Amino acid sequence: MNEELTQLLKNFFDTSLLNRLPDKYEGDRIFSSPIIGVARGNDPIFQKYKEIIGSEHLTPFELWLSEGYKRLPSSNLRIISIVFPFNEKIRKESMNVKKCLGLTLPAEIYCIARNYANPFKKKTCEQVIEFFKVNGYRAAAAMLSDSFSIILNKKFYSTWSERHIAFASGLGTFSLHEGLITEIGCNIRLASVVTDAPLEINTRKSDNPYGNCLYYSKGTCRECEARCPANAIDENGHNKIKCNEYNHKIARKIFTRIGPILKPHNRRINWKLRPASYPVGCAFCQFGVPCMDRNPTTEI
Ligand code: SF4
Ligand code: SF4
Repeated sequence: MNEELTQLLKNFFDTSLLNRLPDKYEGDRIFSSPIIGVARGNDPIFQKYKEIIGSEHLTPFELWLSEGYKRLPSSNLRIISIVFPFNEKIRKESMNVKKCLGLTLPAEIYCIARNYANPFKKKTCEQVIEFFKVNGYRAAAAMLSDSFSIILNKKFYSTWSERHIAFASGLGTFSLHEGLITEIGCNIRLASVVTDAPLEINTRKSDNPYGNCLYYSKGTCRECEARCPANAIDENGHNKIKCNEYNHKIARKIFTRIGPILKPHNRRINWKLRPASYPVGCAFCQFGVPCMDRNPTTEI
């Protein structure tokens, strides 16, 4: 069933109109072909995430129950993490944007792609859920669930971290810029689905959470730090607050330029639905760096 699912996703990425940029940008693809990883529902790492991320972070079993499904042994659950790699053209244009004084704006094509990613990721999850239903199984996605929320208290996290789910699924490791470095790089988006279908599991090669980052594994690189216009990265890691503030500034500026073609995004903060926003991302730290489109430690 793993292969069937991979093929379904590949076809969907090839044909979905939601995976296309607007005509003004020649209607090119936003994402090239996906890869997937699969974790088992009773992997102890999901319980650990409550300590590492925050107490409100859901285990797959909790997500399952929140969707109204009946209890079952959590070992029967599978979590499929899906990697959405940005396409070549978006990367090329984004690499040419230079850091300068004042507000450095990302390439317009990336802003659109990042903004259009959300509806495409949601549709992808719906397709995967439908695939399992047709095959006689059940499935749910945090991204489509009311139990998904950003938690803003003493900490700042979400009830379902796609990066941590991808790590659990053996797809990659964390990094100085706090992205996830997979075998096809960090310039990606992620989504996931939980199901009771008996998929084969991907074993994590290592439990080292930073193994694919050159800084953490070799003490070198730090190119992401040099590229960040908000000084949100240093040797201690990534400052989420600074990064978020810079992202808001960019979003406001970009909205005045291309607001009418952006798509709205609804999110909950502390489980309260907020007015629609129009996120466009930043990601200078992911473009033109050694981990953009590969695992830079592979050849070492
Ligand atoms: S650019 Fe270098 S230091 Fe930064 S996350 Fe990538 S590999 Fe790690
Ligand atoms: S997303 Fe932008 S602001 Fe945030 S760390 Fe990366 S480059 Fe810096």
